[in-house]
Amino acid sequence: MCKDMSPLEKAIQFHGHICPGLLMGVRAAELALEYLQVDLDQDDDLAAIVETNFCGVDAIQAILGCTFGKGNLYFRDYGKIVYTIFSRKKQQAIRIAQRFEALDDPNTKRYLALRFQEQLTTEEEAELEDLLALSFEWIMSQPLERLFHWRQVDVPELNKAEITPSVQCHKCGEGVLKNKAVLTDDSLLCPECRLSMEG
Ligand SMILES: [Zn+2]
Ligand SMILES: [Zn+2]
Repeated sequence: MCKDMSPLEKAIQFHGHICPGLLMGVRAAELALEYLQVDLDQDDDLAAIVETNFCGVDAIQAILGCTFGKGNLYFRDYGKIVYTIFSRKKQQAIRIAQRFEALDDPNTKRYLALRFQEQLTTEEEAELEDLLALSFEWIMSQPLERLFHWRQVDVPELNKAEITPSVQCHKCGEGVLKNKAVLTDDSLLCPECRLSMEG
């Protein structure tokens, strides 16, 4: 990714569009960097535990460099907009939670309501664009305390991704990591085939 891009630009390019959720992720990344006093040009050992898989996580990935592929992004499917960002080198971690009322700005609320509406009139389409511009201004200019709660937490103990040899699933014939394969009475199955047999 281009080094000259601002964090915001990196996030938008990675995510593919601008939306309030992504912008909130941009602000959360900004908070994490400020709090942990990390300079990303020198320090790339950050890791993140994310409790949502919505838009904001893309900002965490694009800006903080925490990704599934690198093994420094951990997903906990709690359905909460909470990010725990930590530096192993500095032995410091911050837990950032989006405030429940964080997006109660009228323009942002109206934008989100229209966004999830099935059909839009031409006027509403035009309104959507204006609302997004206003929402952008609002989110990017709010003090961080208005958007998030945060506190220091212990650096989480996490296992590195386990790399085990692949074995072949007896049903589909595809390879699967040995520690993910399921041994049944008479065969070795990948989790997918195992599930399809139950269903
Ligand atoms: Zn989005
Ligand atoms: Zn299979």
